[in-house]
Parts: sequence; structure tokens; C-alpha cells
Amino acid sequence: MRAPLVAANWKMNGSFSMLDKMLDILRKNSGNTACRVVICPPHVLLTSLKKAVEGSGIEVGAQNVHSELSGAFTGETSAPLLKECGVKWCIVGHSERRILFKESDEFIRSKTETLLRNGIRPILCVGESLEQRISGNHEDVVVAQLRKVLADFTTEDQSRCVLAYEPIWAIGTGKTATPEQANSMHAIIRKEIGSLSNTKVATNIQILYGGSVNVENAENLLAQSEIDGALVGGASLKIEDFSQIITAGT
Ligand code: PEP
Repeated sequence: MRAPLVAANWKMNGSFSMLDKMLDILRKNSGNTACRVVICPPHVLLTSLKKAVEGSGIEVGAQNVHSELSGAFTGETSAPLLKECGVKWCIVGHSERRILFKESDEFIRSKTETLLRNGIRPILCVGESLEQRISGNHEDVVVAQLRKVLADFTTEDQSRCVLAYEPIWAIGTGKTATPEQANSMHAIIRKEIGSLSNTKVATNIQILYGGSVNVENAENLLAQSEIDGALVGGASLKIEDFSQIITAGT
């Protein structure tokens, strides 16, 4: 049985005052739901978030990490330091980092490994561009992304990852994959995990959908048999909307 998980990706948004307001409402709501809730704010808010969610069941996630443990990497943050901040989850492979910051599959693989070695669970994002979908290449692209990161990991490490299918054309665009499109890609991802790992890992691994999830579409998306939760960008900044998405995930 895969427990639903809804993660908020605040991207480069948010503030200390927004954190206070949001958590007031979220703390009240999260107690009433079986859905696991993770919030990934900008790094400077992590320790405040950690203190504020104490005892609420809400978990702390980061949006990025470096693959090295320390050194001359100006502006970067290490996994051990994230761990000290109370981080349990970290997004890797987000298309904004792949495209805007030119992150390669190899770098994403190293980051994922570093997270696993430091007791932080990766939320590994994969997804195709609009051109790749139109040309009918989308399944091969997503399978290749999975293989490049996960193929050499042990079964135990693979089982510690959560996956997020995020078609690039649906991120921040207001265009969502239909529940059928998302469900069918999730089934392909699960099948590939079965080949890279084993049936038990494939059955239990959580696969989130991300890409313009909002209050209108969350229920239908999250009702799909292969969709185990959501990675939510824009709508996670509107607290009432995010609360409703969490309820839809229950
Ligand atoms: C994301 O950034 O992971 C995301 C899914 O964004 P949005 O919900 O705004 O499309």
C-alpha cells in the first residue's frame, strides 16, 4: 500500500512571514489527513520551517543539494548541512535545474547518491519536453532519464527514492497532463523500476505527478491508480489551494 505524498516546491518564492501564515493553516489541516506532506522552501527558510513544523507531521524538504560534501563550491549547500537543518527530502533532477543550470544526468546521479549516503530521501524528477511528446519520444526520454540515475544503485537505494513525473510542457504553464496521460507514463515508470530493481520495489515506489496541479485537477489526477501524490509548484504558494490538494491526496 503506497501512502499518498504531496510535496510543495516553493521554488524561489516565499518569505519568513509567508511561512508563519502558511504553517498556521497547514498545521490545523495536516492532522486531519492521511497524506504525507513535505514542504521544500528556499534554503534560508529551512531551519525556521523545521522549528515551526515540530510535532505537526509536516516534513521538511530542500530544493537542491551539491554532490560533494564540502569545498570550494560558492553558493552551494551540502547534504550534511541540509541534514543538520532537519531536511528529510530533497528534489533532484527538476527540469528547471536541468535546463537553466545545465545539470547533467551524471551530476543528478551523483547528487542522488550523496543524498542517499546522508540519509536524505531524493525526490527524483523526470519528464519530457513538448517536442519530445509531439514526436512520440516521451516514453524513451523518461526511461532513459531513470536509467541514467538509478541503474547502478542497489535495490535498497532505489527503494529509498520517490519519483516525480513532471512533463516540462506542464510545469508552470497551466497545461496539465490528462489523468490518462499521467497514469500511463507512471505505469511505464513503474515497469522500468521493475526491470532496474525488482517487482517489490516497483510495487512500493511512490510516483508523484507534477505539472500545474491545482484545486480543479488534483482530485482526478490523484484518483489514478498509478499516481501516488503530487509535486506542486505554483499552487503550493496559495495556502487554501494547497490544503485542498492535500485533502484530494488522502
Ligand atoms: C514544479 O515546479 O515542480 C511544478 C510542478 O510547478 P507547477 O505546479 O507550478 O507547474
